[in-house]
Amino acid sequence: MSFSLHEKEDTIIALATPQGVGAIAVIRLSGKDAIRITNEVFKGKDLEKQDSHTIHFGTIRDGERIIDEVLVSLFIAPKSFTKENVVEISTHGSSYIVNQVIKLLIRHGARPAKPGEFTQRAFLNGQFDLAQAEAVADLIHSDSEASHQAAISQMRGGFSGEISKLRAELIHFASMIELELDFTEEDVEFASRDDLRILVEKLLRVIEQLIASFDLGNVIKNGVPTVIAGKPNAGKSTLLNALLNEEKAIVSDIAGTTRDFIEDEINIGGVIFRFIDTAGLRETTDTIEAIGVSRTQEKMKTASLILYLFDLGDTDMVEINRDINKLENLGVPFLKVANKIDKANPQFINDLKEKHPDTIFISAAQKEHLDLLKNRILELVNLDKFKTGNTIVTNIRHYDSLVKTRQSLLDVLTGLDNHITNDFLAMDIRRSLHYLGEITGEITTDDLLANIFSKFCIGK
Ligand code: GDP
Repeated sequence: MSFSLHEKEDTIIALATPQGVGAIAVIRLSGKDAIRITNEVFKGKDLEKQDSHTIHFGTIRDGERIIDEVLVSLFIAPKSFTKENVVEISTHGSSYIVNQVIKLLIRHGARPAKPGEFTQRAFLNGQFDLAQAEAVADLIHSDSEASHQAAISQMRGGFSGEISKLRAELIHFASMIELELDFTEEDVEFASRDDLRILVEKLLRVIEQLIASFDLGNVIKNGVPTVIAGKPNAGKSTLLNALLNEEKAIVSDIAGTTRDFIEDEINIGGVIFRFIDTAGLRETTDTIEAIGVSRTQEKMKTASLILYLFDLGDTDMVEINRDINKLENLGVPFLKVANKIDKANPQFINDLKEKHPDTIFISAAQKEHLDLLKNRILELVNLDKFKTGNTIVTNIRHYDSLVKTRQSLLDVLTGLDNHITNDFLAMDIRRSLHYLGEITGEITTDDLLANIFSKFCIGK
């Protein structure tokens, strides 16, 4: 998204609270004329004469017609989220009122904000860097606790801080080497090549860590991909429904009615699990072959967790052992879930408890022991690793930049090995700086110049 200078001058308006009926709704304006425009339709105190961070009661009027009684909060530039003049109008929460107020303010000179435009302005006005701006967007969209935590810590600058620290060290080297370029006659070496190698290797280790964290970050943001595997009529759709608590999968007595993969999400203990229903298992009656159905197997391989579900009344021990063996070879963590305890043979349950003591016995239809199942699911995905305070990369753009940074750092190492000339070395380092800068939105060349001048006031 890019904005012309003209657009940056506009005063933008949007509903800041969710669409729909609530007790109150908050309409937000940002821009040079936010207070003046609001003042034109507000009857109460003269808003243009009030201090920043004050709240005022009054009415919003279209001519003589009162639209609503409101509270208006004022934030005078630069002491606001966008660093522009910001007005927040709290109206009563009917969409009719909200629409009337917004339309009225647009008539008086505001224009509807584009998606993310408030955050974009905050960024452009230096409120925070790009990584933080994206974290704000993620925060607004995050709907589970773990992803909320990742977004929060990124916003507080944990992630940007780490990257900035790395960049600063690299900038130092870049400036030393660029300086050498000015002294080619004298054959001086400001930057020890050994120290540079040590730094680059250290950087690479950190970058590798951040790259590895992307997988974890992705799981937090997009959910733990989970597959329910089992024979036709084992009760997969029923279980999925019971977990989702709504009719999202087609439950039927007739095998094969769940026609395609149904993906859905549930939130267990603050972690999102994305369920993938394995309709493919129905395409054959033999379970071994079923697990071999390629479409299903592909899905199962991409899963981080498999719930192996079987019907206690319709599966014998030989079959169960075979399936379990097959799943163990697949290498994806799985839970053994025995369904339909409500009509199971007690002897068979005892046998199973003996052979497979970790089996979880449930009734999907009667919603029996589902809490137990959920607890075991949570245990299995090892939540501790989600709760570390470590930096987690969740953004595909950051990931991209990190991968490119890694490549350019490796180029620096190769360059050092091959004793390439300083100008090429400087180029490789600059490329690394550029990709790191992409993440935090900082500008490399200015940094380099500033650093050179601050370190060496040559000729002064
Ligand atoms: P799927 O083919 O694995 O998706 O199986 P379904 O969810 O369609 O279930 C097949 C049949 O088993 C349906 O008639 C369900 O009502 C029934 N069923 C599922 N869970 C239970 C259970 O816990 N107890 C009993 N008695 N029947 C169940």
